[in-house]
Amino acid sequence: MVEKDTMVPVKREALPGDNDLFTLVRNARNFLVYHHLLGIKSYPAGPALLTFLHPTPNTRGVAVVAPRKTTGSARQFTPATSPDHDSPPRQTQPIGDLAAVQAELEGCTRCLLHEKRHTLIFGEGKERPRLMVIGDWPGTEDDCVGRPFQGSGGEMLTNMLKAIGLPREEVYITTLVKCLPPADRPPTRDEIATCLSFLFQQIAALAPSVICAMGPLATQTLLATDQPLTRLRGSFHNCHGVALMPTFHPRFLEKHPEMKKATWQDLLLIKKKLAK
Ligand code: SF4
Repeated sequence: MVEKDTMVPVKREALPGDNDLFTLVRNARNFLVYHHLLGIKSYPAGPALLTFLHPTPNTRGVAVVAPRKTTGSARQFTPATSPDHDSPPRQTQPIGDLAAVQAELEGCTRCLLHEKRHTLIFGEGKERPRLMVIGDWPGTEDDCVGRPFQGSGGEMLTNMLKAIGLPREEVYITTLVKCLPPADRPPTRDEIATCLSFLFQQIAALAPSVICAMGPLATQTLLATDQPLTRLRGSFHNCHGVALMPTFHPRFLEKHPEMKKATWQDLLLIKKKLAK
């Protein structure tokens, strides 16, 4: 069902393998599953969607069909990148079962990252957390012990959380992809797309108040944008109904300590948001 009133097209960054029909269909399915989990029953009809659904003779050689008017209380979808002060369909209750998501990922071989990993790092922390931290990808130490944000970067994260009054165990911590890429390289777009629906299901099952995306890959993927992290950080964004603050990854801060001040400002904004 499509609503005509609020014209907000669903936009996202081009995902890996979009030229490949199978990958395109799989990506579309992943997003639809996530929206279904959130309870989104319909999409508002933006011009692009209407053109797609009701093509003109010029584009597809068939007659124009007027969109059906719809009424009722169907929820409207707001793009992930809309400002936080918009009114997104807020998720306040968990949807789905975290243990079931984890069970489905057990021994996962869906993408090539499984070949070199030692352990799959699903995530850890409090269920129904106020804050969920999502990093770009697991590090080598994470891979050894099967836990996210280990080593000196993990220690930095623990201290950052403590500084805003959040013990690490009160937060849920995970990564965009669940397996360490070889040679600690960034995951490819295809690998991210393959793993993404499980992260969305984690978010839905945890229903955090705030997400802190650490690193450009996590930020850009969750906000479906290619804008640089430096432009996105410093304010909240709507990630499918959850307030998301992008900031720098501890791995980056270890090499660029001059960015710690900016990260601290982002963390203070999170602290303020959580205090409301
Ligand atoms: S990164 Fe995700 S999709 Fe790829 S093998 Fe690991 S768990 Fe499976």
